[in-house]
Amino acid sequence: MNQRDIIAAAMGARFLDGNDPSIRLRCPICGQPITPSTSVWHCTSEPAHEYAEMDGVPLLLHSERSVFRAEDFHARPRTTFKDPPAWAARLGRLLPSPSRDVSSEECRLQLARLLAARPAGRRRVLVIGCGDGSAGYGVMAEVEGTQWLETDVSLAGRARIVCDASDLPFEDGQFDLVICVAVLEHVLEPQRCVDEMHRVLVDDGLVYATTPFMQQVHMGEYDFTRFTRSGHRWLFRAFDEVGSGVATGPASVLVWSVEYFLMAWTGSVGLRRVIKGLTRLLFGWMTLLDPLLARRVPANDAAGGFFFIGRRAAGPTLSAREMLGYYRGADALK
Ligand SMILES: [Zn+2]
Repeated sequence: MNQRDIIAAAMGARFLDGNDPSIRLRCPICGQPITPSTSVWHCTSEPAHEYAEMDGVPLLLHSERSVFRAEDFHARPRTTFKDPPAWAARLGRLLPSPSRDVSSEECRLQLARLLAARPAGRRRVLVIGCGDGSAGYGVMAEVEGTQWLETDVSLAGRARIVCDASDLPFEDGQFDLVICVAVLEHVLEPQRCVDEMHRVLVDDGLVYATTPFMQQVHMGEYDFTRFTRSGHRWLFRAFDEVGSGVATGPASVLVWSVEYFLMAWTGSVGLRRVIKGLTRLLFGWMTLLDPLLARRVPANDAAGGFFFIGRRAAGPTLSAREMLGYYRGADALK
């Protein structure tokens, strides 16, 4: 059967609000249920932990453990996003971007098939780090009966709940798929976040994550860590692997490296913007090579980042020793 035929023709996706009664919320601090409200949300503890909301979006953050505070959002609702001036953003959209995810279309198709294969009513998706939604969900959002809850640590447009992946404000076992694209490099404790994803997924729930391996610092103070393909697999060791591979290729790394090599000479915002534009103009085309490179084994040693699609397991699916056999780079060809 044609892959696209499997996917329901009807646009059945429904995007949920944070106060949707079908979502069971829990306090990120004490774990007690949270009652949605029209102003201050609070948990059922005595005394209750209280959570402010902005524009109808609750800020369900652990006040001690998270790097974010509710007051950050009053000062700067977009928190992690560093918005360039409008002209620079327009120009940036015209220039070839070095950030080409060569795997995303195939991953979305695979996930759409996996979602469509689940019984109706078991197609609920949690998006961690939805951003402004510009990347879209492609064919995944065309699967009939999918319900989507979009979250972020930025009020960047689409988030219906502000929460930190380190302490997800959801009761256990509620989601069928967790999407976490380009997020884990921005958290202090990636393993804790993956454990949280595991907790809120149903028993056979799915996870889709992409995380950089060789990419320079982006989002400034909100950038903490990187993973090899093996390191990324180990993070998700409580999942069976459905698929994994190169997300951004060696050419992306090369273009970023030229850009950041030149930008390392100057802190001038204007000059750095010029360097960025020129590098993209002159070298951005090179990322056209990445789809050719991505499936080559040595590319695993040189990639910009990796994707992982997994199915939740009850416990670890591979041992520390087995990780040596998992390695997929050039040395594995010897
Ligand atoms: Zn509480």
